[in-house]
Amino acid sequence: MQKVSQLYEGKAKKVWVTEDPELLIVDYKDDATAGNGAKKGTIHDKGIINNRVTNHLMKLLEKEGVPTHLVEEISDRETIVKKVTIVPLEVIVRNIAAGSLAKRLGLEEGTPLHKTVLEYCYKDDALGDPMVNEYHIMAMEWCTKEELDLIAKYALKVNEVLSAYLKDLNIELIDFKLEFGKLSDGTIVLADEISPDTCRFWDSVTKEKLDKDRFRRDMGGEEDAYKEVMKRLLGE
Ligand code: ADP
Ligand code: UDP
Repeated sequence: MQKVSQLYEGKAKKVWVTEDPELLIVDYKDDATAGNGAKKGTIHDKGIINNRVTNHLMKLLEKEGVPTHLVEEISDRETIVKKVTIVPLEVIVRNIAAGSLAKRLGLEEGTPLHKTVLEYCYKDDALGDPMVNEYHIMAMEWCTKEELDLIAKYALKVNEVLSAYLKDLNIELIDFKLEFGKLSDGTIVLADEISPDTCRFWDSVTKEKLDKDRFRRDMGGEEDAYKEVMKRLLGE
C-alpha cells in the first residue's frame, strides 16, 4: 500500500490518501501541542510509541467487540486505517476527576467519581472544542440519536475493557478521549488514536503521571513516561 497524497496534517499525525479510496495511512509525528496549540514542542519517539500503543489497544478492543478503523500497522509510525467521516465530537470518559472536570467542579484531582462520566465536546479548534450535550448534537445533526447511543455504548465498553486491562499493568485509567467515524456503508467505528496523548494514565501505586500532562504542565520526564507505558503494554 503506497501513500498517494497528503490529505491532512494535524497536530499529532499526518493522514495520507492511498490507491484504495476506502483506506488511508496515518503517520504519527513526535510533535506535541497543548492548550489548543498555545504550547508546542516535541517528545522524542512519541510517534512510534503512540502508533504502537494505539494499535495494541485497538486490537484488544476489536477482540472484545468494539469495531475500530484499524487495518494494518505497516511501519514504526504508520498504520493503514479504514477511511471514515469523523463524527465531529470528542467523546470523553472519566473515572476519576482530573484536568478540566476537576477545575470546573472545584474538585481535587484524584477524587473518585461515583459513576463513570461521559462528556461530549464539539471538535473545532477555532472554538476551543466547546462542551455540548445530546440536544446540541441532535440540533446540529452531527449524528443521529441511534448513532450517538451506539457511540456512548462503545465508549463505555472501551472504558470497561481498558480499565481492567491496564489495572493488571499497574496503570489507573483516569480519563480519556475517543473519536468515532462512519464508514462509507454507515457503520460506526472507533477511529483516531488511544495513547498517552489522549488518556490520563497514573501509576496505580505511586500515582505518578504517565501521560501528556507531564508535557502540558512542564513537569518533565515525558519521554520516559511514554516509554514506560509502551514497556508495560508491549513488554518492550
Ligand atoms: P488534530 O486534527 O486534532 O490536529 P491529529 O494530528 O491527530 O489531530 O490528526 C488526525 C486527524 O485525522 C484528526 O482530525 C482525526 O479526526 C482524523 N482521523 C482519525 N482517524 C481517521 C480515519 N480513520 N479516517 C479519517 N480521518 C481520521
Ligand atoms: N483530551 C484529548 N484531546 C483534547 C482534549 C482532551 O485527548 O483535545 C483528553 C485528555 O488527554 C484527557 C481527557 O481527554 O485524558 C480529558 O481532558 P480534559 O477535559 O480534562 O482536558 P484538559 O485538562 O486536557 O484540558
